Amino acid sequence: MNITFCCTDIKAEPWLAGLRMALPHAHVAEWQPGAPQADHAVVWSPPQQFLDEQPGLKGLFNIGAGVDALLKLRLPPHTKVVRVDDAGMSVQMAEYVCHAMIRHFREFDGYEADMAQGRWSYRKPRARADFPIGVMGLGVLGERVARSLVQFDFPVHGWSRTPKTVHGVTCHAGPAAFDSFLASCRVLVNLLPLTPETRDILNRNTLSRLRPGGYLINVARGAHLVDEDLLALLDSGHLAGATLDVFRTEPLPASHGFWNHPKITVTPHTSARTLREESIAQITGKILALERGDPIAGVVDATRGY
Ligand code: NDP
Repeated sequence: MNITFCCTDIKAEPWLAGLRMALPHAHVAEWQPGAPQADHAVVWSPPQQFLDEQPGLKGLFNIGAGVDALLKLRLPPHTKVVRVDDAGMSVQMAEYVCHAMIRHFREFDGYEADMAQGRWSYRKPRARADFPIGVMGLGVLGERVARSLVQFDFPVHGWSRTPKTVHGVTCHAGPAAFDSFLASCRVLVNLLPLTPETRDILNRNTLSRLRPGGYLINVARGAHLVDEDLLALLDSGHLAGATLDVFRTEPLPASHGFWNHPKITVTPHTSARTLREESIAQITGKILALERGDPIAGVVDATRGY
């Protein structure tokens, strides 16, 4: 079996070593133009030339959960596109979102400002009931995040394309339920995939439906958010703040208004990193399952976009 590795901006050697160790009988090599046809590929942002030269791939394994960049390319028609599902990402995402939520709810920014002034100052406890949270996307990551927020006794709503049942979460589904979902929330967490339906979904119209004093946590993709609409709603006071991990242009340009905004926290697309060992174990397990003809999880539906 031939496995090819074609990942932009990722050091190949540790991945190649891990893949070889997990699949000792396979031939594993980094892709070079003109290389022979492989059976399976492990990819991140591959060039179009790679896909054009590898039309016979059985599996194309994306080493991340989001496949929006991959689906922009012309893909071999009979290849299964497979995303990493979880492999240690959902717990990181839950940590990140719970941290951002609790930091906002418990007013840690205010205490940090007080500390800088040497000021001992209590803040009045706030009621959890006044901070209902809406999680957009109840997939692998969104469901884990929603369940984690429920553990802190926040009222939690979720929104997905198809109906879901998540213990402790009020679930809404489909476009018809979107307005009532938004109106139920004060804090919005975005964990949708980027598709033609979800691009620009966080805009003036949708964000202004959140309860006054709303808060946005965007951990999915930068192109979900219309940047200037967020800035306008923060400056008008309708929104109290935002924690943003993903941006239309990454790295976030030095001149961007998000950097110095007092109500925005910026992190460098780090909320849930691909973990190499966990991902290699998952991908190689799926390669073997595909070779046996067994079904696997995480196969992308290109027409749906995720
Ligand atoms: P999944 O595919 O498991 O889940 C996607 C969820 O979004 C599903 O619940 C799906 O609904 C819902 N959804 C999709 N389209 C719509 C729509 N039009 N309307 C309503 N709901 C919709 O993805 P993951 O949870 O694994 O990942 C989500 C995204 O997180 C990734 O696509 C990626 O962009 C981002 N991400 C960000 C990372 C970071 O470090 N910042 C790291 C990893 C991922 P249904 O269940 O009905 O299909």
